[in-house]
Amino acid sequence: MEQLNEYQGKATMEKITSLAKRRGFVYQSSEIYGGQNGAWDYGPLGIELKNRLAQAWWKEMTQLHDDIVGLDAAILMHPRTWEASGHVENFTDPLVDCKKCKSRFRADQIPEENIKGKKCPDCDGELTEVRKFNLMFKTQIGAAEDTANLIYLRPETAQGIYVNYKNVIQSNRMKVPFGIAQIGKAFRNEIVTRNFIFRTCEFEQMEMQFFVKPGTDEEWYNKWKQHRWTYYEKLGLKMDHFRWRQHGSDEMAHYAKEAWDIEYLFPMGWRELEGIHNRTDYDLTRHSEYSGKDMQYIEQESNERYVPYIVETSAGLTRNVLMTLCDAYDEEKVADKGNDDDWRTVMRFHPTIAPVTVAVLPLMKKDGLAELAEDIRKELKEDFATDYDQSGAIGRRYRRQDEAGTPFCVTVDYESKDDNTVTLRYRDSMEQIRVPRAGLSERLRKEIKEYKRCK
Ligand code: ATP
Repeated sequence: MEQLNEYQGKATMEKITSLAKRRGFVYQSSEIYGGQNGAWDYGPLGIELKNRLAQAWWKEMTQLHDDIVGLDAAILMHPRTWEASGHVENFTDPLVDCKKCKSRFRADQIPEENIKGKKCPDCDGELTEVRKFNLMFKTQIGAAEDTANLIYLRPETAQGIYVNYKNVIQSNRMKVPFGIAQIGKAFRNEIVTRNFIFRTCEFEQMEMQFFVKPGTDEEWYNKWKQHRWTYYEKLGLKMDHFRWRQHGSDEMAHYAKEAWDIEYLFPMGWRELEGIHNRTDYDLTRHSEYSGKDMQYIEQESNERYVPYIVETSAGLTRNVLMTLCDAYDEEKVADKGNDDDWRTVMRFHPTIAPVTVAVLPLMKKDGLAELAEDIRKELKEDFATDYDQSGAIGRRYRRQDEAGTPFCVTVDYESKDDNTVTLRYRDSMEQIRVPRAGLSERLRKEIKEYKRCK
């Protein structure tokens, strides 16, 4: 029997990173200059995947919830925002440096005996004292470089929502309980960036802040925990790679009353994917204190006044890209030829998030097949993200689409010219069936709706 090596058939970070580059999902930022730490660029397939994940989340949180509206706040906010939010004072990680090899560590991520003994885990050199390191990026706004113009890049999107909560109530006549959803960039000067796009200095978040009456916060908190779990189920992911983890009181953020993470089993182990936090009335109360503006909500019927509690669901969009790349990755033995063709790499994305939904492939370029295929693609692209590929053997072309995670291929051959039928090829099962060209869009729509992951 053939001996499988230990990594065959499994996702590893190395394989994901190399496929991501090879197929244009993610490139290193500024690669020609040796790369920029903590930053990554999304290529043609990567931006499609990221956009689709963002759309799926947006649909779930706004379109499917009548009581949630969207917002897109600026990245640059008044610096007082970050004093009020507690980030200037508290948004720090414990930092230590090695005096010998100059490596830098997060003190909470290396063994305690190294901290106690001041011993570098890499070279045994002497470590500095642990000091607090603020993760916010600072820059200046305006021409003069003095502290009066100090401004921060936002480390979370949430504050843009809090400072606008009264605007939204007034302009859109929202009533508590209601939510505001936002997707956008956030920046953190992370001490250690590691594991590809898992932890980066520039990243995107998908956050929803739900404003509730104090006293009802725990009930809403549990509802949102449940909703966020079912969301991932709907995306057809490997649910045995998901689990809950509650934050202990020692690791909770300064604003939180309760915090649970949804963790995903990445190739490097279980890691946070999304956090669900009960932020209480902390943020709004602080903004009220620092801005002098009343942040109370007045209930119309009862005239009751209160500062709402906030239940937050905070997911990393770019971290979700990594999660879906890992989740979709599969290697499968498909033949017994004794060469590379024995195996295929297939990205089993759910069709709603796959970068390309359908690829149209003429069996040959000649005899009018290319024209016919282009015509079919023209029709399909009104409704779907399509690709067209006419070069190389058909088997190779299917493999390329498998690696890109394209769930459906439509192949045009000589018969197609005679009887207006095409071959529909399924990515997951590799099954091929003959279907009429007419009604192809409806058929694909139905397939997408009824899609069930087989592996
Ligand atoms: P950690 O403790 O791992 O630094 P956190 O608990 O501070 O992270 P949150 O502030 O709860 O993270 O952020 C919410 C979500 O934003 C996280 O679940 C994650 O998906 C994403 N996120 C946070 N920091 C980063 C980062 N540096 N790079 C990519 N995504 C991030």
